[in-house]
Amino acid sequence: MIDVEEFGQRASEWLTANRLRAPRDYGAICPPDLVDSGLSWQRHLYESGWAGIHWPTEVGGQGLTAAHQAQWLYECALAGVPGVFNMVGLVLAGGAIQKFGTPEQQVRHLNATLQADHVWCQLFSEPGAGSDLGSLSTRAISDGDRYIVNGQKVWCSGGRYSNWGILMARTDIDAPKHKGISFFLMDMNLPGIEIRPLKQMTGEAEFDEVFFTDVELPADALLGPLHGGWGVGMAVLTSERGHIGTSVISLERRLESIARMAQGRELSGTEKQDLTKLLSKGMAYKAMAQRQGPVASTAASLMKLGITEMMFDSAMLRADIAGVESTLDGADAFGLLSAPGGRIAGGTSQVQRNIIGERLLGLPRDPSH
Ligand SMILES: Cc1cc2nc3c(=O)[nH]c(=O)nc-3n(C[C@H](O)[C@H](O)[C@H](O)COP(=O)(O)OP(=O)(O)OC[C@H]3O[C@@H](n4cnc5c(N)ncnc54)[C@H](O)[C@@H]3O)c2cc1C
Repeated sequence: MIDVEEFGQRASEWLTANRLRAPRDYGAICPPDLVDSGLSWQRHLYESGWAGIHWPTEVGGQGLTAAHQAQWLYECALAGVPGVFNMVGLVLAGGAIQKFGTPEQQVRHLNATLQADHVWCQLFSEPGAGSDLGSLSTRAISDGDRYIVNGQKVWCSGGRYSNWGILMARTDIDAPKHKGISFFLMDMNLPGIEIRPLKQMTGEAEFDEVFFTDVELPADALLGPLHGGWGVGMAVLTSERGHIGTSVISLERRLESIARMAQGRELSGTEKQDLTKLLSKGMAYKAMAQRQGPVASTAASLMKLGITEMMFDSAMLRADIAGVESTLDGADAFGLLSAPGGRIAGGTSQVQRNIIGERLLGLPRDPSH
């Protein structure tokens, strides 16, 4: 097997030659205006042998390790291009199907996801169930050889352009809250699904509300054990946090650009201190990411918390240094308005602190659980 360093070298050369075919790097979720170029980038990655770096070769992946995948994401961040088009498909759904899927589900979805024929969204959060996801009330009630789904999801990134969704729904309404939930692979074109865009404060509408009215899900849409979807969902969320935590390189680049912007300007004492604090914290997180390695674990919460809090602080400082005009329009204003979202997506900062307190530091459990 090719070693990680040589692989990184090859990836870097290929990206230098091909980066103009990529959309700009948009982070985890592709905004609606870049979907066409994102799709064609993912297909180009697939055809050129750069899709599914650590996925098995039988489904069209490259059969390498998680360390190679981490190196690929690193090289993509350096090149300023997205490493995957559809994070929900390639990290969350794909990972869950490999771990929990039947052979039929793997054949049906994995290769199609690598080729971006199946594009996925995440149907977890509800108006009454975000941090406390175990309170979700969307139901999927067994009815012969199908499940009938009724309820509502919210904050579904990319719902309008996805043709598949990973859904958590209640299948046993009498069981204790975490025990009666199942995990499904949902065809988003089924009758009874209505998708409505939600406008954010950036002015864009990257999210959707999704409503289900008597949607008939076939029995083979169930992923993992019936009523055992909580475990599947938690594995998916850990991968999501791990993936967010890998954005350390884009953070580093952002900090470099703030440092460059500060050159030749008269910074106040406080601005200088804030900048120094951010740069040194950034280096500490980079070191931590290198120590943690590419496999998502409970420590993913540490990286997710640290990176997204820093993204937020760096957007604030950048706007301070650039001056008030920059907050009215353009990239800095957009950065400022989108930065809070990172601290919420994939589990809020407060929730990450609870996880770190309970599982890493051994503190008493959150009384709300
Ligand atoms: C950019 C972005 C993309 C997203 N994409 C998706 C998606 O594709 N699919 C999807 O299903 N969801 C998605 N979400 C939703 C996200 O998962 C939820 O917003 C998040 O889990 C928080 O839930 P909530 O909004 O209901 O807030 P709440 O859970 O109501 O929290 C409100 C406040 O209370 C705090 N809080 C809650 N419980 C505790 C506690 N026990 N201890 C301390 N503080 C607590 C929270 O930290 C927060 O500050 C996305 C969100 C964002 C911002």
